[in-house]
Amino acid sequence: GFRMGIVGLPNVGKSTLFNALTRTAAAQAANFPFCTIEPNVGEVAVPDARLDRLAELAKSKQVIPTRMTFVDIAGLVKGASKGEGLGNQFLANIREVDAIAHVLRCFEDEDVTHVDGRVDPVSDAETIETELMVADIESLEKRLQGIVRKVRGGDKEAIQQERLMKAALAALEQGRPARTVEIDAEDLKAWRMLQLLTSKPVLYVCNVDEGDASTGNALSEAVGRMAAEQGNSHVVISAKIEEEISQLDDDEAAEFLTELGLAEAGLDRLIKAGYELLELQTYFTVGPKEARAWTIARGTKAPQAAGVIHGDFERGFIRAETIAYDDFVSLGGEQPAKDAGKMRAEGKAYTVQDGDVLHFLFNT
Ligand code: GDP
Repeated sequence: GFRMGIVGLPNVGKSTLFNALTRTAAAQAANFPFCTIEPNVGEVAVPDARLDRLAELAKSKQVIPTRMTFVDIAGLVKGASKGEGLGNQFLANIREVDAIAHVLRCFEDEDVTHVDGRVDPVSDAETIETELMVADIESLEKRLQGIVRKVRGGDKEAIQQERLMKAALAALEQGRPARTVEIDAEDLKAWRMLQLLTSKPVLYVCNVDEGDASTGNALSEAVGRMAAEQGNSHVVISAKIEEEISQLDDDEAAEFLTELGLAEAGLDRLIKAGYELLELQTYFTVGPKEARAWTIARGTKAPQAAGVIHGDFERGFIRAETIAYDDFVSLGGEQPAKDAGKMRAEGKAYTVQDGDVLHFLFNT
């Protein structure tokens, strides 16, 4: 599955947010109930109104949303790249996630100590980014030395790696994160394998006080400007509010949100933004037994999409019977969509589209 790492300096609200995320009613209502895989790893249901609509039309007994994994990576501090504190372990945790949700303190509260003695989210973001860049430089220098011999021997893979590592190092040495390096499509796989900390997409999460949740504040606006300059996105959330919401049932939560003037829970926005950030999309399998959402990377072909359900589906793939979400819903279900000629048979080369309702046919 896809993993989002929650990082940030101490005392910015990471744990509050993580706990809210993983305790929320939506996470628990999911048929795969929220489970704590490890104390700091949790899975949450990805909210998607389309799934409920499909289930309604197909009278599905069960509704199973797709999930996203969040990892609370606490303890990143200045000096982490030098192995201070538990620094190295945290950096290793970040290596294993697909994207980073960087929580920034955008609330003033004299009772909550700031590690640097002042509230300045833009400077906090720089502090963490610098640690990650230093860690990347060190790891690249080491790995470049490690492949010298293979490169001399003409090893194609090593030559490609060296070229990519040098491009990353050049950017980092100019103070730019690895994600600013442009990578050709044929290099993407090798590039991802480098697992550079600063090549992971970043989403800034501005944690504001309850009163600022619907409007944001000057601090979150400053983060917004920084994010725009970097080409990253940001969301404004009040971890405290999310914590309260996570203890309510769906109806109470909706009422509470209305009172606060919020259209949608911050966590829903966060999960959706994470989905965007990771360039993920959803397809559905729908029947009387269950309606279920599945996550794939954009651009995934039908056999690999089938493989998300089961390896056998991919290995024995014959074809996918496909109905677009809009057709399924506007025509009122599978049979009417079929009758209207809206069910297509798609082969191995088909690129699954967001919202596709699929049946896979496969050899066992
Ligand atoms: P972490 O170290 O980043 O995991 O931070 P925590 O989630 O433990 O939060 C640190 C402290 O800040 C706790 O006492 C929280 O209750 C408090 N806190 C978190 N979010 C907010 C907020 O939006 N406003 C205020 N005033 N306090 C918050």
